[in-house]
Amino acid sequence: MTEFDLIRRYFTRATPGAELGVGDDAALLRISPGMELAVSTDMLVSGTHFLPDADPFLLGHKTLAVNLSDMAAMGAVPRWATLAISLPNADEAWLEKFSAGFFALADQHGVELIGGDTTRGPLNMCVTIMGEIPQGGALLRSGAQVGDELWVSGRLGDAALALAHLQGRTVLSDAEFALCAQALLQPQPRVALGLALRGLANCAIDISDGLLADLGHILDASEVGAHIDLMRLPVSLSASKNLGQPLGIQCVLAGGDDYELCFTAPAARHAEVLRISAKLDLPLTCVGEIVAGQGCIVHDATGKPLKLENSGYDHFR
Ligand code: ADP
Ligand code: MG
Repeated sequence: MTEFDLIRRYFTRATPGAELGVGDDAALLRISPGMELAVSTDMLVSGTHFLPDADPFLLGHKTLAVNLSDMAAMGAVPRWATLAISLPNADEAWLEKFSAGFFALADQHGVELIGGDTTRGPLNMCVTIMGEIPQGGALLRSGAQVGDELWVSGRLGDAALALAHLQGRTVLSDAEFALCAQALLQPQPRVALGLALRGLANCAIDISDGLLADLGHILDASEVGAHIDLMRLPVSLSASKNLGQPLGIQCVLAGGDDYELCFTAPAARHAEVLRISAKLDLPLTCVGEIVAGQGCIVHDATGKPLKLENSGYDHFR
């Protein structure tokens, strides 16, 4: 199979939302009037972001999901993507499943693959995603206000727990592992939530590197601090069982790969946030508040601040 057969066979689909898709030297796009283009890139490297023997369908899903998550965090409607892929060989069974996973999620979100690049080399996928936002409507990291409530979607820590189980650092039951593995292998980007939060949230970020690290970006950009109650964090049963131990705290606060949204909104709009939660059938949990100052203080079950530096926040990296 030639490179061009491969591209035609696995990565070329109709792109009615683009002026020109795959096949020429560049794709051509027309942005809707009054909208601005949101552009983001995320790369997945074998051994770093996934295990080399990962299921190709799920890998196709995750390659796009992590990018959709960035669109969600901006409040953008995802429209187009490019895919640069480096493959050790043209394994047709692998490509079949990878592209099926990629396009299944793309179809769910109305995203069109409009181009990319294909080379031989170590397995590595890089997507650039493009979406539209009404001018000035993006959810920026810099918008948090003192007094805002701090919210997170879904559950935290499951993906990190699944990884810890796979690496032999903890032992989950089969049922617990199945639940956590879903978060690790097939994250659901919170695109609908990002759109619903436009005009309501003051800022948002997606949690890819762990709550504390990503919230830290909001706090730095907004020049504010935050308080979080550990016991209010939305966690699964398996995570809560581990919460008394360093590993559990690490997975929930600094685990990474959650792909949930962290956002802040005025306290007066608490009920509106809960209505969005009900409408989307997605848990949204108020876990703390934005305060004057800098950095994040996490209070444990007794109300005492956790000593995050000393308990090894840097070791998590
Ligand atoms: P060029 O030589 O101009 O860089 P390529 O031969 O790399 O073009 O690609 C040919 C066409 O196929 C281009 O339109 C490119 O965007 C598209 N393409 C290449 N690889 C992929 C891919 N993995 N997924 C989608 N489109 C791709
Ligand atoms: Mg090229």
